[in-house]
Amino acid sequence: MKRFKCDVLVVGGGGAALRAAIAARELDPECRVILVTKGKLGTTGTTANSCSDRMAFHATLPHTEPVGEDAWKYHADDIYRLGGKVSDYDLAVILAKRSCEAFEYLDSLGVPFVKKDGKAHQFVTDGSKYARACYTGPKTAIHIEQALVRRARELNIEVVENSMVVSLLVEDGEVVGAIGVDEADEVLFFDTPAVVLGTGGGGEVFEYNVYPPGATGDGYAMALRAGASLVNMEFIQIGLSSVKTKLACSGSLMRAVPRFVNDLGEEFLIKYFPEGTSWMEIHNVVFEKGASWPVSCEHASSQIDIAVFKEIMKGRRVYLDFSANPQGFQFGQLKAENRHRYAQEVNNPISDDQRESSPLARLKEINPASIQWLKDNGIDLEKGEMIEIVPAGQHFQGGVKIREKGNTEVRGLFAAGECAGGQHGANRPGGNALLDCQVFGKIAGEEAVRYAKSALMSKKAITEEMWSGLQKEELIFKHDGANSAAKVGKSIYASELKGEIQRLMTRYVSVVRTYEGLSKAWQRLTELEQYQVKRGDLSLIEYYECLNLLLVAKAMVLACMQRRESRGPHLFFQSEDDLRPLPGSPGYEKYFVIRYKGDELVAEAHEPVRPNDSWR
Ligand SMILES: Cc1cc2nc3c(=O)[nH]c(=O)nc-3n(C[C@H](O)[C@H](O)[C@H](O)COP(=O)(O)OP(=O)(O)OC[C@H]3O[C@@H](n4cnc5c(N)ncnc54)[C@H](O)[C@@H]3O)c2cc1C
Repeated sequence: MKRFKCDVLVVGGGGAALRAAIAARELDPECRVILVTKGKLGTTGTTANSCSDRMAFHATLPHTEPVGEDAWKYHADDIYRLGGKVSDYDLAVILAKRSCEAFEYLDSLGVPFVKKDGKAHQFVTDGSKYARACYTGPKTAIHIEQALVRRARELNIEVVENSMVVSLLVEDGEVVGAIGVDEADEVLFFDTPAVVLGTGGGGEVFEYNVYPPGATGDGYAMALRAGASLVNMEFIQIGLSSVKTKLACSGSLMRAVPRFVNDLGEEFLIKYFPEGTSWMEIHNVVFEKGASWPVSCEHASSQIDIAVFKEIMKGRRVYLDFSANPQGFQFGQLKAENRHRYAQEVNNPISDDQRESSPLARLKEINPASIQWLKDNGIDLEKGEMIEIVPAGQHFQGGVKIREKGNTEVRGLFAAGECAGGQHGANRPGGNALLDCQVFGKIAGEEAVRYAKSALMSKKAITEEMWSGLQKEELIFKHDGANSAAKVGKSIYASELKGEIQRLMTRYVSVVRTYEGLSKAWQRLTELEQYQVKRGDLSLIEYYECLNLLLVAKAMVLACMQRRESRGPHLFFQSEDDLRPLPGSPGYEKYFVIRYKGDELVAEAHEPVRPNDSWR
C-alpha cells in the first residue's frame, strides 16, 4: 500500500477540482495539496472533453444587462425560477454574485473569451432572460481546463494520475483519510483531514450518454457511504443526441426541420401528438426544439423526446433524415416568429425555392459548418446518410448536498461542480454548470484549507496500529466481492452488472418514468446489491466504477420514486401507455434528500432555502 500525507486531498481533474486545488494553494502556499485524477491530468472528465456549437460560461459582468448594482439578483432569480424552486436560493445568490470574479480569474489565466470593444461578448441561453453567456467557441470548457492545468503546474500542485479514490475514511463524522487504487491495482492511502470531491457526474449509469468514459458518479457513491446526503438526484438533463458522434441534436439541426423516421421508414411523430394535430403544428414544435434541447416538461417539444423514446422502446431505431422534407412541410407556413428566428441565423442565403426544397438545403443556409463537422465525424448528409438519434444523459443537476461553503454534513468533506447538489434545481440556465465549477470550486478549496488548519490541531495521528489495520484491509480492496459477501449465494461479473444497470436505467429512468417502472428498477437493483460482484478481467479501477454505478442508480431511482409529478426533465406518467406526463404540483416545491440510515438508503423531503427580503 502506498502512503501519502496532505492537508487537502482534491479528487478529480476537471474544472471544479482544479479550481479547488488552485484556490487552496493560492490561499496558503504552505498548504500540502494533492490532486488525484483517474487519467492523465487535463484529459479526463467532461470539462476536458466536451464541445458543443457554442459552449457557454454564464456570468453577470459590469456591462451585462440590466446594468446596475443589483444585476446579480436577475441572475440568481433565473437560476431559482428555472430550477423549479427546488434549489437553495442562497446558493444561487453566491453563484450570481461571484460570477464576475470567476470570469475575471479565467480571463486572467488566458482563457480566450470572445470580446467586442474589450468586453466579453455575451448571448442569451435557454432559460435566461438576459445575455450572460460568455464563450470562446465550441471548446470553451476545454480552454478553461487547459488554463487551469497550466496554473496548477505553475503552483507545483502534486498530482497523482491514473488513480481513483474509492472510499473516504470517516471517524465520528469527521474525515481522517481516503483509500484509492492506481492503474497497476496498487492500493493508495491518503492521510488527510480534508477532502474536496470534484468527481463530475454519473452519465455512465445510462446506456446512452454524452459523457466521456469514467463518469461513474464516484463522488456520489463515496459521499453516501461516508454519511453525507445527495439531493435532486432525479433531475438529469437528457436530450436527443447522435449515437455515432454523441453530438447534441439541437439548434440549427432542428431549425432545418428534418424528417424523424424509424427503421421502417415511417414518419412517426404524428402518432404521439394529440389527435387532430396537423403536420405543420408538429413542424413548428420541431423547429422550436432547437432552443430547448434537454427534455423538459415545461416545454411542448418534450413530446418529441417522448415519441423518440417510445419508438426505441418498441425496438425501432430512429433517425434524422435531411434528404427530403417531412410530410406536409412548407417553409412559408412556419409561424412568423420561427421564420424570423430562422432569418437571424442565415449564413449563406439561398432562394425561396431552394429553402423550400429540403432540410439539407436549409441546414446549408443556416449552419454549413455542422454539415462538414458531421462529415468529418463519419456522417455524410450530402450523400443522404442519416443521423441515428437516442435520448442521452448530459448533466446531473443534483449531487452531494452542499451548503454555502461547499461543505457537506461530514466534517472535512467538501464538494463542487457537477458532483455537488442544491445550487441547481430541476433545470439550469445554460452556462451555469461551468460557472458553478469555478465559483464553488474556489469556495470549497479555500474552506478546505481553513478547515484543515483547525482540524490538524485536534486530528488524531494515524497510529501504527491503525496503519497495520489498514494494511490488513488492503486485501478487501483487491479481491472479488469487495461490495459485500454474497448474501444470496449468487454472483455476477462486474461488466455484466454495469450492462444490466445501464439497460434498467435507460428503460425505466430516462424520458418516461412511471411508479411501476421505477419500482421494477428498484427491485432489481436491490437484488443485484445482494450478489457477489466478480472482477473478471477488469482493472480495480473499472471494478470499483461498476460498484459505484449500482449505488448511484439506486439513489436516482429512489429520488424519482418520491416525485410523483413532472418537473424539469423528470417526466412522470400515470402509466406507460399515457402519451402525456402528469402536471407539476405546488405541493412538490421541495427537494428530496437521499442518505443512508443504518444499512438502508432512505429519502426525506426538505424545504429548500427560499428567497426572502434580505436577498433583495
Ligand atoms: C456535451 C456537453 C456540453 C455541455 N455544455 C455546457 C455548456 O455549454 N455550459 C455549461 O455550463 N455546461 C455545459 N456542460 C456541462 C459541464 O461541461 C459539466 O457540468 C462540467 O464540465 C463538469 O465539470 P466537473 O469539474 O464538475 O467534472 P468533470 O469535468 O467531469 O471532471 C471530473 C473529474 O473527476 C475525475 N474523477 C472522477 N471520479 C474520480 C475518482 N473516484 N478518483 C479520481 N478522479 C476521479 C475524472 O477523471 C475527471 O477528471 C456540458 C456537458 C456536456 C457533456
